[in-house]
Amino acid sequence: MAEIKRLHLADVEVAGSIWPVHGFVVTHPGGALLVDTGVGGWEELLSDWRVVNRSVADALADIDMSPADIGLVINTHLHFDHCGQNAVFSHAPCYVQRTEFERAKVESRELFDWFGFMDARFELLDGDAEIAPGVRVITTPGHTAGHQSVLVSVPDGAEEVLIGDAAYTSVQYSGPANATLPDGQASDRNAWARSLERIKTVGPAAVHFCHDAAVLHG
Ligand SMILES: [Zn+2]
Repeated sequence: MAEIKRLHLADVEVAGSIWPVHGFVVTHPGGALLVDTGVGGWEELLSDWRVVNRSVADALADIDMSPADIGLVINTHLHFDHCGQNAVFSHAPCYVQRTEFERAKVESRELFDWFGFMDARFELLDGDAEIAPGVRVITTPGHTAGHQSVLVSVPDGAEEVLIGDAAYTSVQYSGPANATLPDGQASDRNAWARSLERIKTVGPAAVHFCHDAAVLHG
């Protein structure tokens, strides 16, 4: 049975508030994988966001793991606070939606080039997919065009969701459909709302956020 361990990889300043940046290790019978690799980028980008950063290797050491223990990486999407340390896992294939890969290439060329995508081993997905036993991704576009969320099987046949940025925090997850959203939450509001409904339809036993220490239990 899979187990989820949260890594606190950075703090960033957003509109005067401090937000955590989380990644998640999922251990399963066949090994371990990492969902999102934390913050990375050039100096100016990091200072703009007043990033207090941690190396993902240090965060893994806290749970007695090292980058070599990570057999594969899943990026929910290709923003600098979710794929920033992908290069630490150059030994591992990296699962991302093809739509997201193409979006980043066009919209964020500088970031796309920064992370050494030439050496990266991307496995491009075209929709929902099982990635490892008990670990699957579903497409949840709206934050970005190719965003995906990760569902992890837990005992009693339930699944927990690593939601990525489909909702920044429990407030956006639980809020009314017409709520005012933080900047950047939805590049496509209608798609975003449909994706949240899609996640809720799964009936997750727990919702884990990248930018909120709260864990919602269903
Ligand atoms: Zn994002």
